[in-house]
Amino acid sequence: MSGYDALVVGAGYAGAVAARRLAEDGGKRVLVLERRPHVGGNAYDCPDDAGVLIHKYGPHIFHTNDRRVFDYLSRFTKWRRYQHCVIANLPRDNPEAVPAGKKTDGRFFFPVPFNLDSMKAAFGEKEGQRLGRKLLDAYPAQSQVTILELRQNPDAEIAAIADYVYEHVFVHYTMKQWGQTPEEIDPATTARVPVRLSNDPRYFMDAYQGMPLEGYTPLFKAMLDHPNITVELGRDARERLEPADGVIKLDGELFHGPVIYTGQADELFGFRFGPLPYRTLDFGFETLPVDCFQARGTVNYTVDEPYTRITEFKHLTGQVLPGVTTIMKEYSRSYTGMDGEIPYYAVINPENNALYAEYKAMADRYPNLHLLGRLAEYKYYNMDAITAKALELTDRFI
Ligand code: FAD
Ligand code: UDP
Repeated sequence: MSGYDALVVGAGYAGAVAARRLAEDGGKRVLVLERRPHVGGNAYDCPDDAGVLIHKYGPHIFHTNDRRVFDYLSRFTKWRRYQHCVIANLPRDNPEAVPAGKKTDGRFFFPVPFNLDSMKAAFGEKEGQRLGRKLLDAYPAQSQVTILELRQNPDAEIAAIADYVYEHVFVHYTMKQWGQTPEEIDPATTARVPVRLSNDPRYFMDAYQGMPLEGYTPLFKAMLDHPNITVELGRDARERLEPADGVIKLDGELFHGPVIYTGQADELFGFRFGPLPYRTLDFGFETLPVDCFQARGTVNYTVDEPYTRITEFKHLTGQVLPGVTTIMKEYSRSYTGMDGEIPYYAVINPENNALYAEYKAMADRYPNLHLLGRLAEYKYYNMDAITAKALELTDRFI
């Protein structure tokens, strides 16, 4: 016998929260298998060679309206107050139009999500104000509207604003990120970044926002630090786990306890219905001999450049480290499944959802198998949403 009551595959949010709950509140002896050499999944952070705390798999900012999630995670970390602000960096349509005497490299900036201040940066103070009032006549103050909804507005002037935002914020960035236009991707994706009828420059509006004070990795280490939890790093579950004919074997023996699987559903079943499409990212890290590289934590290149955005970690973490900073550029492309590639984003559309449903139906034939997480459920979960899902799932065992 394995000596374990529950098995968890993956030590990201889904796996770590599930393991802790099963161990602590369910009294189960839990084995966690993680194929990377560290815990934390895509939220993992670590110091780089220059001592700058970086997010190895892309910038992660915690935000939630879910009190239960915030309270649960707060058991394992203190928080640094941080409100993420993003600006777009883009070329001027008409560099000649810059007022005389104002030196410029032909580029300008505005807050993203596009808001009433962005309007002034884009159209000039007076015209921007007038157009802002126009929008406020059409939509309630402080509200937000998605770009796809805004483009449906029948008013010619509002339609022109929508076209501007579409062209200068969404279409090129979305093409870089997804290889498709905003109309072709799941509308919920661009709805994450609506147009705002306010001057609020924050990327997220949630009640609880911040960064784990010591970083994400210590949060995960604390969560997994429990006498009932054994974590094996550098262990691919496929070497140990065998699902066949409705039963699961661990190291060749039948395993009857709950198996919480947070990896890819297609991989678990040998890609038998075909691979699920994903987008992967290449990260370009650069360490520079300056205190500060850019004005905000993240700057989106919404029109040009091959990368989507640059993040400078010191803004996020608040780390004080004079004379050095590390930035990261994100380049998106199709996931091919080659060794070392990581599937970061499910490509959500009806066809891929139908393919996923085949894997889910297969998983449902295993009574003790539970697919949980951004990969296993083929969903676009934020950290708080998957934490909530892990809490809900494990409620059943407690
Ligand atoms: P993961 O973190 O992917 O964890 C799954 C784990 O399972 C991985 O560690 C993997 O190695 C392991 N695994 C897979 N297969 C196997 C196997 N066969 N054997 C053993 N182990 C296996 N969310 C936010 O809330 N705020 C943000 O600012 C934010 N920024 C993001 C930026 C980027 C670039 C990306 C990609 C995501 C971002 N997210 C953000 C989302 C966040 O990363 C996810 O919500 C979270 O990581 C999901 O946790 P998970 O456990 O489902 O998946
Ligand atoms: N998006 C865009 N321009 C931007 C920011 C976002 O077109 O400046 C679109 C793009 O399609 C992106 C989606 O909105 O994939 C969601 O953006 P978010 O920042 O939430 O993406 P994530 O941080 O999850 O990569």
